[in-house]
Amino acid sequence: MLQLLRTQPGLTISDLARASNLGKATVSRVVARLRADNHVEECAQLSERQGRGRAGTGLRVRPEAELYVGLHIRTGRVECVLADGAQDIITAFSKAVEHRADREARLQLLEDAIAEALNRANRSRTRLRGVGVAIATPVHPVTHALGPAVRLPEWDRPDISVELAARLGVPVEFSNDSNCSAMFLFASGGLKPGESCAYVHLDVGVGGAVVLEGRIWQGHTGRAGNFGHISFDPEGEYCRCGGRGCYEKYLSLPAFLGRVTPLYGEKSLDEILALIEQQDHSVERVVQESGAILGSLLANLSRSIDPPAFVVGGPLTRLGEIYRRAASDQLHSINPAAGEVRFAAATNLPEIGATALGAVALLISTMQP
Ligand SMILES: [Zn+2]
Repeated sequence: MLQLLRTQPGLTISDLARASNLGKATVSRVVARLRADNHVEECAQLSERQGRGRAGTGLRVRPEAELYVGLHIRTGRVECVLADGAQDIITAFSKAVEHRADREARLQLLEDAIAEALNRANRSRTRLRGVGVAIATPVHPVTHALGPAVRLPEWDRPDISVELAARLGVPVEFSNDSNCSAMFLFASGGLKPGESCAYVHLDVGVGGAVVLEGRIWQGHTGRAGNFGHISFDPEGEYCRCGGRGCYEKYLSLPAFLGRVTPLYGEKSLDEILALIEQQDHSVERVVQESGAILGSLLANLSRSIDPPAFVVGGPLTRLGEIYRRAASDQLHSINPAAGEVRFAAATNLPEIGATALGAVALLISTMQP
């Protein structure tokens, strides 16, 4: 019952009875007990918003009743958020990771980050329901084995989530960071509830997610959505994955900055955005060429999974409409019937913890009732 309300706030007693295949009387009894425990409350505004003219009052888990920690393991640092049951951030911060830290030190760092999050917000550990961890590596959906974590090899240990769960006494779920970024879009309005799409995340690396009716399709071994390692040029440069000429080599943030270097020397993304603002034609051409390469990746995805929409996220979406249009034009020149290309707004992102919050959303969606 709680799990249904966590993932679908606003359900009425009748909705819960239908979804759980239990009688309405039984559901009413369970809900009465949860309300007496202050675990569940009415949320009139949510049931109205769903606007299907149903009788009954919408219910949700009281945000204060449950706490979740999200961690995002990045190169050299870990981002940490403490979120309530409504997946709103209570506190967010970043902790540096010593490059030479051994396995024990890394586990301790994650434990310390969780304790610090609770301390900062002055919340009791007894309300902690689980920890979601985002990491740039495939995560096997059944065995939960990580790896290979080519960019973060020091974290690549098969039983790290089991060990952390044993130390903390709450569920711990490691998830691929691009899948977490896609989940965050549902929380932030970048994706509509129940939407399906191919999500492409352009950052230091290039990742992605296959989103099917509001859920992440992880694939047989957790590698679904690993779009950055589809080959663009089979005779291109060797890639960290062992392949050649992967899209990541052409579409990542460093790859894009590298394309501008011969024109203007080393520039930051902000400096390049200022040049675009001034309608610098050389830079615009680089943006259009990069956009066309993105479009050719999307054309591959349109042939293989044919999603109704292609949603792109990450810092390079700040390149804006010239980039989006170049990608969309290339895609539709190859497959005119392909779905729309949309950029997920990069403006309303919290500075720290968007992906970590997505890890919490994924954890909640997979938790056992
Ligand atoms: Zn590769």
